[in-house]
Amino acid sequence: MNMQEKNISENNFEQCIKCTVCTVYCPVVPVNPLYPGPKQAGPDGERLRLKKGLFFDDTLKYCLNCKRCEVACPSGVRIGDIIQAARIRFNESNPKLRDMILANTDFMGSVATIAAPVVNATLGLKPVKAVMDGVLKVDKRRTFPQYTSKKFESWYKGIADTQDGYKNHVSYFHGCYVNYNFPQLGKDVVTVLNALGYGVHLLENEKCCGTALISNGMIPQAKKNAEHNIKSLRKSVVEKKMPVIGASSSCMFTIRDEYPHLLGVDNKDIRDSFELATKFIFRLIEENKVKLVFKKDYKARVAYHTPCHMERLGWGIFSTELIRMIPGVELTILDSNCCGIAGTYGFKKENYDVSQAIGKPLFDQIKGLDPTYVACDCETCKWQIEMSTGYQVKNPISVLAEALDLEATAAANR
Ligand code: SF4
Ligand code: SF4
Repeated sequence: MNMQEKNISENNFEQCIKCTVCTVYCPVVPVNPLYPGPKQAGPDGERLRLKKGLFFDDTLKYCLNCKRCEVACPSGVRIGDIIQAARIRFNESNPKLRDMILANTDFMGSVATIAAPVVNATLGLKPVKAVMDGVLKVDKRRTFPQYTSKKFESWYKGIADTQDGYKNHVSYFHGCYVNYNFPQLGKDVVTVLNALGYGVHLLENEKCCGTALISNGMIPQAKKNAEHNIKSLRKSVVEKKMPVIGASSSCMFTIRDEYPHLLGVDNKDIRDSFELATKFIFRLIEENKVKLVFKKDYKARVAYHTPCHMERLGWGIFSTELIRMIPGVELTILDSNCCGIAGTYGFKKENYDVSQAIGKPLFDQIKGLDPTYVACDCETCKWQIEMSTGYQVKNPISVLAEALDLEATAAANR
């Protein structure tokens, strides 16, 4: 049993050796003087909270749940989990209407896609932004991701039959963003996996992973989604013997780690069969099971941003190594920095300035490099970087879809 396995579902604050390294790595500490920092909000505060819940401090709401403190901690203290678990246990305030709207991505996406052009145009209007800012407290400077008129799941229905013809098979957890906002990423996943000889299948009635529900304190709903998703994943992995891939590092992190740690939903039996698509592909290459053939004329200067949850997963290397394999790509791995959006956090009026201040070093580095585009495995980092720098952000799977000679790759994997 390794250190990380041992820590699962244990409140391990006693392992803290009080080195304060976590405080140095926390992106909130330098920009928000109201936040006590990970050491105090995490292990130190937990000692007091265990004696009396009254010691719960409302400033814990400023934690982004980015887990950078956990990556830095030399003692393996699950600081972010301790803070989020304390918020779940002791926070007595109910989520606001604004928080419910932002967190219910499945409901909002289903409604918005019905009249996507109107919704998209309306959300961009200054008077609408002013009302949202004044009434709902959604900051008017924030741009919203566009909704699609045709959901990814609807597109998939049209190609579902073709997927049975491949020699190998995987299931795909697409996530809300692909379904309601950006189906192209889901199409790219299908395109790349098909070229590698894999048929792609959807899970049974996938639901939102619950990242935003957890961060907005809607725990019963998050737990219901988690139980449903784990049942669907189990059906794929255990019954159909099909591993599951995803292309969003945040959904991936929530399902693998937050379900057992924060929601108490057990996933031990399927956790290792749920991988990021880039990790899955990299492993297949290493095992000599697939080959990638790239276009000869593809050229790009790519800057890769490692999302915080990707750092916690330790999987950034798989995405960057795949991009590095493309002959015409000049890759720069950006300094380790949080982009500041943290899901719905950066949409809220009270957090907007802090969110932008956290992301500033990253934005400045991107602007200084002037890349052809930025690559990143997280959709909310994509929104933040695109809005704050003007540079396009592509998922590494979309980069592969663009750079691969698909016909030659398919032929090599037949
Ligand atoms: S999870 Fe992120 S924001 Fe929260 S304490 Fe740790 S480093 Fe700071
Ligand atoms: S980095 Fe870990 S050991 Fe050091 S103060 Fe923070 S929680 Fe404690």
